[in-house]
Parts: sequence; C-alpha cells; structure tokens
Amino acid sequence: MYEKNGVVLVLSGPSGAGKSSLINEIADDIGDYYFSISTTTRPMREGEEEGVHYHFVSNEEFAKDIEENNFLEYALVHGNYYGTSLKPVREALNKGKLVIFDIDVQGNTAVNNRLGDITTSVFITPPTLSELKKRLLSRSTDSIEVIQKRIKMAKREIQRTSEYDFVIVNDDFEMAADVLKQIAKTARIKIPTDKINEFVQKWEDIEQ
Ligand code: 5GP
Repeated sequence: MYEKNGVVLVLSGPSGAGKSSLINEIADDIGDYYFSISTTTRPMREGEEEGVHYHFVSNEEFAKDIEENNFLEYALVHGNYYGTSLKPVREALNKGKLVIFDIDVQGNTAVNNRLGDITTSVFITPPTLSELKKRLLSRSTDSIEVIQKRIKMAKREIQRTSEYDFVIVNDDFEMAADVLKQIAKTARIKIPTDKINEFVQKWEDIEQ
C-alpha cells in the first residue's frame, strides 16, 4: 500500500510570499524531490539564470509548445505566459519523486483537474497586504508598474485560498518552514485512487 509512487506538491501565493526561500530552507529534509522549472515569456530579472529559475522563451516559442501539447498546464499571469512542461514532470513521477510546482491559482486548478488524486496544494502568503507591499518594494527587482500589477493580482489570488488543502501564513519564517516540511512529508504518503482501489480489492480477497 505504501510503496513509492510519484506525488505532487503545488505551492501558490503572491510573489514576495517567500515560496522560494521556504523551499530552499526545507530542501535537505524532504527526501528525493524534483522542482519543476517553468517556461515563461517574462523577461529575465536581475540575478536570474536560464534553466535555473525558468526557461525563458519568446512568445513564438511558447505558442509552439502549446500547439505541440508540451504543457501540463499554462496560464497568462501579470501579462506574461507561464507553463509547466509535461515531460520532466512525467519522468519524475515515474521515478516516484515528490514533484514541486510554484504555480498560480489557475495552474493549481489545472493540476488538480489532471492529477488531483496525487496532489497536495498549499497557499503561502505574507500576513497582510501592507507586509506584501513592503516586501515587494524592498526587493526592488521590479518597476513600480510591475509591483502594482503584482499587488492587484495578490488581492485577487487571496480570494481563492479556500481552494487549497493548506494555507501557510509566512510571518515567522522558521515556523512557516516547519509547517511546510510537515506538509511535504504528508504529501508523500498520499495514495493514488487506483492504488486504494487495488488495496480494497485485495483486502476483500483476504476476507474470503
Ligand atoms: P514570477 O514572475 O514572480 O516569477 O511569477 C509570477 C507568478 O507566476 C507566480 O504566482 C508563480 O507562481 C506563477 N507561475 C510560475 N510558473 C508558473 C507556471 O508554470 N504555471 C502557472 N500557472 N503559474 C506559474
């Protein structure tokens, strides 16, 4: 019943919520995982690297990927396209890994529609809107226009937190990291529907 099978952990929340820092913090304690690197048409930010933070592509290349059905899901976020490539995710799942996605609320809906029975979802947020504004401004990697767009988006996204299995308020970093670690460990033992059905079948057989 508890044999190794691939599972998904979706992380969503406004930019500035601390998703990347939290993942880095718990990386050594959650076993074998694969962090999905998305493809995006957004311009590269200072400090970002191709193939590390994202695969940065043109609108034409992105459109080609859509046409060739290369995405598990994709969405338009803050005016740029972001997508999760299917192939590496499928490979990681086949190897029984914990596959982690940092995707928006639209992506969470799409992943749940396709892989709901092996997915655990977490919404991560700063404690308040003013704290989010403060973090985005101090990060200063984006223009004021982009920051305003992100704040508007965050106000919309927060309305959909109830669609997630868990919500983490990233106020106390250590505590937030500890909660995320526990969730990641629990996500690992989520059992896909076909395995449950198989187990029930066998369990009934033993009874006979
Ligand atoms: P950023 O531009 O700050 O890196 O990301 C902006 C938003 O896009 C974040 O909310 C992030 O979770 C989301 N995002 C990143 N990659 C993907 C993806 O592949 N699919 C979807 N649906 N959203 C993504």
